[in-house]
Amino acid sequence: MSVSIYTLEIIYRGIHQRHLARNLARGIVYAARMEGNAALSYQRYGDDPERDGVPAKYFVVIAKGAGSSEDVLDAEAARVEPDFVDVSIVLDDTILKGVESWAWQGIQPVHLKLRPNGLLIVVSKKNPEELLRFIPARDSPYKLVVVQGERSIGDFWTFPDDGTVERVLGAIAKVAPDVLSLDGVKRFLQSLDKPDVRVNRAVEAYQALVRLREVKPGEGIPYKYEPPHLPGYKDMMIGGAIPGLKPNQRNPLFTGGTAKHYRPVINFDKCTKCTLCWEYCPDSVFDPTPDGYFNPALAYCKGCGICAEVCPVPDTIIMVDELEFEDGYGKFIDEYRMWKENREGYRKWFESLLPKAQIISARKR
Ligand code: SF4
Ligand code: SF4
Repeated sequence: MSVSIYTLEIIYRGIHQRHLARNLARGIVYAARMEGNAALSYQRYGDDPERDGVPAKYFVVIAKGAGSSEDVLDAEAARVEPDFVDVSIVLDDTILKGVESWAWQGIQPVHLKLRPNGLLIVVSKKNPEELLRFIPARDSPYKLVVVQGERSIGDFWTFPDDGTVERVLGAIAKVAPDVLSLDGVKRFLQSLDKPDVRVNRAVEAYQALVRLREVKPGEGIPYKYEPPHLPGYKDMMIGGAIPGLKPNQRNPLFTGGTAKHYRPVINFDKCTKCTLCWEYCPDSVFDPTPDGYFNPALAYCKGCGICAEVCPVPDTIIMVDELEFEDGYGKFIDEYRMWKENREGYRKWFESLLPKAQIISARKR
């Protein structure tokens, strides 16, 4: 009796990509089952469920070969998380900066679970070399695969399905045929509505839209994380209680800064010290400065954009794509200090970011 087990994880932005991730996990399971294999998926999270864009995960286990059965899968799924995965799928490329969740205290590198020679599949408009500027180096090789596409929130609220699921399924079949065959993917997609459109999307990704880069040990950026810590049950407070925070206090054990794909940048030269950003920020991110400004503690920012929406002064708070910045990883820049130390340099930096901003205070877009 010989059974091969394949484990996949899907890392997605909590809430915004939850339907996308669920549909993808379901697609992988159905496609594997339509090939005659046993498969199941399960979801894990530790933070307040999927709140605010916190990275969250689905796992999929596929059992192949004679003797593969639901029993094997049950044993594989009877754990909080798998120790290793063969394929890791990242649905939002800003998650490459790190994953903070699941009761861990600290930020995990995105490929923490990936086996040596495993596949890291990322949906992105960037190429593998550009993405490697954000991925920590590791001791073992892996394959970085880019599925060309926008960060999708397809099928969330009223956002239409944009074909991301089909394209990722096609990409898996291309780069990991042992895990999923194109035939299985097609059979699954043919069982849905609009089968021809869906199959074409998967086949297009299979044929053209995938870029694969072998990543050698040591390639990537220096490891910038504090080692993440998973507290044991004896370390936890009775009942799993979390100490209450007073107004304007922040939780030092869960900063949540990996939850954002846009970050606020403040033009202190224009700020009128009106206090609105400080009052409206739902995560109490702004620290008052001795001279009356408000400095964002970016490690706690979730990137919601409310501060930029409420700021009444034109071009004073802007929201810029997180991958425009090479800091992060729990150690973010201090915008106020940068401005105090070099106002001219800060002004030029701000102006270089302005054309790239997604939300700009007091401007109708
Ligand atoms: S984007 Fe602005 S309002 Fe939203 S969490 Fe960050 S600092 Fe607060
Ligand atoms: S809302 Fe704008 S003008 Fe008001 S304090 Fe904040 S940055 Fe300054």
